[in-house]
Amino acid sequence: MKIAIDGPAGAGKSTIAKKAAKELGFIYVDTGAMYRAMAVHMLRSRVDAGDEAGIENACGSADSAQHVYLNGDDVTGLLRTEAVGDMASRVSQVQKVRDRLVALQQKLASEQSVVMDGRDIGTVVLPDAELKIYLTASAHVRAMRRYLELKEKGTDPLPDPEAIEADIQERDFRDMNREHSPLRQAEDAYLLDSSELTIDEVAGRILALAKERTEA
Ligand code: C5P
Repeated sequence: MKIAIDGPAGAGKSTIAKKAAKELGFIYVDTGAMYRAMAVHMLRSRVDAGDEAGIENACGSADSAQHVYLNGDDVTGLLRTEAVGDMASRVSQVQKVRDRLVALQQKLASEQSVVMDGRDIGTVVLPDAELKIYLTASAHVRAMRRYLELKEKGTDPLPDPEAIEADIQERDFRDMNREHSPLRQAEDAYLLDSSELTIDEVAGRILALAKERTEA
């Protein structure tokens, strides 16, 4: 069985997808982490974010898979910085990068039952997924969640919520308006707005839908 969860940054996709996968005994595939690993590779290779030919060149020599290993080196701990997130959002605009990672994602889903989250899972990677969710939340709520998360981690200097919200809006715009595989809700995806819901409520709805599909 394949469950696709797409949506903008900060809507809670990875937390929810991880939880649902655990309950169902499926593998959780975090495709954003794959684009982030590719971004680490580009940053290490000193490729400029605006240099599409440079990105295309360097992407052939990166082998990223989950845990995440990049050319044998475990880079999992490096993926969550703002610099890597920003680079990932730029690198992911290059079709050659997407082709490599989408092939890897489809291979993972062909070998086991998965909950896969990303931006183009329901539309491009797994168009035949049995269950598709489009998980969103208002930019304001997503920014506040991120702010509290950074505060909890003791981030210093702590960016103010307005700056985080502006950054989220900029990344949304880039993801939704890029030429290749822009972020959008698949026609047959179920829309879930998590602005007013807890993690457990969202996970509960997804599990109920998954149950419906397996029993159908
Ligand atoms: O989900 P996460 O924030 O880790 O993703 C990092 C970036 O990778 C996103 O901003 C998006 O541009 C890109 N991405 C993508 N397609 C996916 C997953 C992530 O383009 N399936």
